[in-house]
Amino acid sequence: MKTPARAPRPAAAVIGGGISGLIAARELAVAGFTVTVLEASDAFGGCVAAHEVAGLTLDAGAESFATRTTAVVDLLEELGLGGDVVYPAGAGAWLHAAAGARPLPQTGILGIPGDPMADDVRAVIGQTAALRAAADLAMPVGRSLAEGTMSLGELVRHRMGHTVLDELVTPVVSGVHSADPDTLDVDAVAPGLRAAVVEHGSLARAVASLRAAAPAGSAVGGLAGGMNRLTAALVAELADRGAELKLGARVTRIGRDDDGYTLSIGEPDEAVTANRVVVATDGPVAVDLLARLDPDLAAYRPEPGAGVSLVTLVLDRPELDGEESGGGPRGSGVLVSPDAPDVVAKALTHATSKWGWLADEAGPGTHVLRLSYGRLSEAKAAIADAEDAALFATALADAAALLGVDLAEQDVLGWDVVRYAGALPYATTGHKQRVAGFRAALDAFEGLDAVGAWLSGTGLAAVVADTRARTRISVS
Ligand SMILES: Cc1cc2nc3c(=O)[nH]c(=O)nc-3n(C[C@H](O)[C@H](O)[C@H](O)COP(=O)(O)OP(=O)(O)OC[C@H]3O[C@@H](n4cnc5c(N)ncnc54)[C@H](O)[C@@H]3O)c2cc1C
Repeated sequence: MKTPARAPRPAAAVIGGGISGLIAARELAVAGFTVTVLEASDAFGGCVAAHEVAGLTLDAGAESFATRTTAVVDLLEELGLGGDVVYPAGAGAWLHAAAGARPLPQTGILGIPGDPMADDVRAVIGQTAALRAAADLAMPVGRSLAEGTMSLGELVRHRMGHTVLDELVTPVVSGVHSADPDTLDVDAVAPGLRAAVVEHGSLARAVASLRAAAPAGSAVGGLAGGMNRLTAALVAELADRGAELKLGARVTRIGRDDDGYTLSIGEPDEAVTANRVVVATDGPVAVDLLARLDPDLAAYRPEPGAGVSLVTLVLDRPELDGEESGGGPRGSGVLVSPDAPDVVAKALTHATSKWGWLADEAGPGTHVLRLSYGRLSEAKAAIADAEDAALFATALADAAALLGVDLAEQDVLGWDVVRYAGALPYATTGHKQRVAGFRAALDAFEGLDAVGAWLSGTGLAAVVADTRARTRISVS
């Protein structure tokens, strides 16, 4: 008896091997596609990568994920990493401002307090500003709040006053998103917050309810060994499933004919064909590639995201070990208010104080600090582009000021600078509507989709959830 010929598996290509591209590739591979991942650089993972400093393998980019949903934990469990999910050690972060350093109030979202009159809130903004913020609890919620678009800054200023915005929200938001809260779409950076304000009749109650509803007690989680293990696990699974994983493969053009899509890589004579294509690059690159298929898509080209330079210092300074309760002199790290005159960095993460697994790996007295540079529209932004040696010297001085401990070059066991150009896209006001418009226009092209932080919003929780939702739809 003749065996019927098996239909060839349909081919899919993913452009960009960052986390969104790797997740899209996994969804497509699971759905039965033969998958090729085309990554321009010499490593997979994009912003979720590893580097080695003083013999320690550390996260070179993302080091945690938001726990407001179970999106990341669910994925980690599927990849067999669920047992390695960890949460930061007890001590929270601090705020460093012109007025001094104080613990960041604990029960907030993006710095917005869940209880404006809490002691730790009043310690930062003072009694008068706390009373103004508490007026939010009694103010009616107007219809305009539920409709149209709104920036994070607008919402906070309206409900709680400018001091909460300037002294609590701006330092957190510029640390996480490298953006001014007045430019950020509240629905993109704090999904569900506006609806919760309407439901609970106050911003503070909305924040408190969202925090209480978060699946884990901590606002963020991580992975023992570093978030870079997520990249390694996705790459390993894709290899197991027979995906072709190409590095140094910069896609320069997407062509289309009756049989599907042809992707040109670097030189025009190298090409990959596929019936399904997922574009998982940054926004400007994605739009430039797609606008060749439909020039109208060019209208959706976003501004390049903010650049950020990270300086990692590994120090031999037992003074940073901190108290028995865990945590160094400034807990898990310090967010810097733009008005702080003495510090150029926008944030410092005390990684060995934040993550128990890393403290164990580094050993007593050895500390890992990570400082980030690259503020918006400020003189302080220029340092991010300085040479490595200048950044290192600035980072050492900033770390000393932020931690209140003298630090000298002889304390440094190793250091590294990692630069991300345009890696933090801004979800500006109207983001949701623009994404919907862009994706509706893309729907005209069968088998073509786009994912990534420029569409989902920055952060692993957003990227993982959106990429999985999109690529599942596109393979159904
Ligand atoms: C320094 C830093 C720290 C962060 N920390 C956190 C954190 O702690 N927690 C958190 O949740 N989020 C964090 N984020 C944000 C989070 O890492 C990102 O939102 C997420 O990783 C973005 O994934 P992506 O796949 O959309 O984009 P990317 O990681 O930017 O990947 C895009 C990929 O596309 C490739 N590419 C571009 N053009 C082409 C082309 N023409 N052809 C082929 N390939 C191409 C790029 O080389 C890159 O690998 C951080 C980001 C940065 C920069």
